Amino acid sequence: MGKHRILILGGTTEARRLAERLAQRVDIEATISLAGRTVDPKPLPLPTRVGGFGGADGLVDYLANEKIDLLIDATHPFANRISANAAAASERSGLPVFALCRPGWERREGDQWMSVADVAGAVKALDGVARRVFLAIGRQEAGQFSAVPQHAYLVRSVDPVVPPLEVPDCRYILASGPFDEGDETRLLHENNIDVVVSKNSGGAATYAKIAAARALGIEVVMIERQKPAGLKTVGTVEAALELIDQMLPPA
Ligand code: NAP
Repeated sequence: MGKHRILILGGTTEARRLAERLAQRVDIEATISLAGRTVDPKPLPLPTRVGGFGGADGLVDYLANEKIDLLIDATHPFANRISANAAAASERSGLPVFALCRPGWERREGDQWMSVADVAGAVKALDGVARRVFLAIGRQEAGQFSAVPQHAYLVRSVDPVVPPLEVPDCRYILASGPFDEGDETRLLHENNIDVVVSKNSGGAATYAKIAAARALGIEVVMIERQKPAGLKTVGTVEAALELIDQMLPPA
């Protein structure tokens, strides 16, 4: 019997960790797929393909052409379209699928969160007096904050925000996690930040800004998740490895 063929939809720390584990398995041939948004992604220990598939139909074709046995959606909790495509492709092709998605952060004592449903809700939450805003939601949707130009912005992203925000006062930092709580506390304090805008991404790598905001008594506008339900989901790489062994017969 040949090796099991797995496609991991990636772009997250969890996908990378899963790739590291599967790269060591002699019974599995896995490929990781990236959307191609990050200009210079860190190298991965598995064969990597880059770019969209062309919707759910394109994904169905890819899965058939590559004789994939199992699809794993390990994309970011806010990457909704690709997850919906993974669910649709699995339904159409009958291929097993599951999602690896870290749990969201829970509100703790001392947190001053204003939970909103989406980026538009976060923009609306800032519709008031001028404040100093730390915007840490990634570059793709940062431009929406041009609608509330009265604030002074500090924007952090992995790649540059293009085009930049149409606001008079904005500075940009390029950095990728993991971030340290001491560094985040300094960043918020030294820049006199009044409010942090964050996605409820979950995981340890970007939690430090949330902990720092709590310690400094700074409000967080928290964009909550809207992942479409439907895919069986595990929260850790270990659980994903167990599920792989359950879903695939021994090679
Ligand atoms: P999205 O809105 O769900 O997906 C948009 C389109 O991008 C999909 O329809 C698909 O194109 C393509 N795509 C997305 N992920 C892909 C993958 N892993 N491999 C191949 N094609 C993919 O996704 P997004 O929010 O733009 O995120 C794009 C990537 O960045 C994802 O891999 C995600 O894990 C990562 N990421 C996202 C965020 C975030 O906040 N959204 C944060 C960190 C990392 P086709 O329909 O043509 O197949």
